[in-house]
Amino acid sequence: MKINVLTLFPDMFTPLQTSMLGRGLEDKKWDLNLVNFRNFTSDVHHHVDDTPYGGGAGMVLQIMPIKKALDSLPSKGKVIITAPQGKTFNEEMAQRWAKEDELTFICGHYEGFDQRVYDLADETVSIGDYVLTGGELPTMSMIDATVRLLPGILGNSASAVEESFSHGLLEYPQYTRPADFEGQKVPEVLTSGNHQKIAEWRHYQALKATYLNRPDMLKDRVLTAEERKMLDQIKSELD
Ligand code: SAM
Repeated sequence: MKINVLTLFPDMFTPLQTSMLGRGLEDKKWDLNLVNFRNFTSDVHHHVDDTPYGGGAGMVLQIMPIKKALDSLPSKGKVIITAPQGKTFNEEMAQRWAKEDELTFICGHYEGFDQRVYDLADETVSIGDYVLTGGELPTMSMIDATVRLLPGILGNSASAVEESFSHGLLEYPQYTRPADFEGQKVPEVLTSGNHQKIAEWRHYQALKATYLNRPDMLKDRVLTAEERKMLDQIKSELD
């Protein structure tokens, strides 16, 4: 997968070049092309922004340098704009984007974009109901969530399949050595070696974590008969 990022701050993108994603870059499992759209200005001061028509605080990013930067790419794939007013990013989007050959992200700054910039994109996406200084951190989060789903990026390919949101539930609690830490013991079932019991326990715990922390995720879920029984048990356990 090739990922282009249009940004005024390409130096911010070092986190994507470390750890598993960094190794993936070295192994050419994906490619990152950082494009500074300030290089596509035509005035001596390289302005990318101007005051808003109608007045108001702050500066608005102009369409021209962004359009020119986009046009300079040999290909773009799906174009994504980062903006607080976009659809909220989630695992389903990451799974959908991971199937694309190419993605292009546009990072805003200052007061955001001239409205006409949005017409250049296929999707406008937010990472949550809060306002950040720029689109660089949202873009990095979205790239990380997407690229880690590509084949060969994670050490153990099962790890992406079993995680929170991948089955519409949060992840079950995980433990590692020691089995007893200052009296806090690992649940016995996990050391029993009984794989069916372990799977049942994990399913129950995933449902419980979701019910407690994100009940909204259960609203549209069609529960199996087994899950309905588990949920009854969880509710009575909590009474
Ligand atoms: N004036 C804009 C508004 O009220 O919606 C906010 C602009 S923000 C300070 C500057 C840039 O940061 C945005 O253009 C966008 O690219 C990025 N940004 C800020 N918060 C974001 C969020 N929650 N999700 C995605 N991008 C965000």
